[in-house]
Amino acid sequence: MATIAWVTDREFECEHIGQRVRIESELVFPADHLPEQPPRRRARRCSHHLECNLRDTPSCVWAGTHPLYNPLDD
Ligand code: SF4
Repeated sequence: MATIAWVTDREFECEHIGQRVRIESELVFPADHLPEQPPRRRARRCSHHLECNLRDTPSCVWAGTHPLYNPLDD
């Protein structure tokens, strides 16, 4: 049976809220009888996306309220 887990991809200081946050991926790990198959990413999120989504001002792509702003873009 496949296993599903959220894993941290990256941590960074988000200037928008002034806190350290995590970008996480939801990975589906293959069943034991398929050991050569790599994990598949099903979704990504920011650890603070819910709080930012409830703000009155647009936040970023991870909150879903500002599709043109990604704080991870260098
Ligand atoms: S959702 Fe975007 S703005 Fe909010 S903490 Fe995460 S990265 Fe920063």
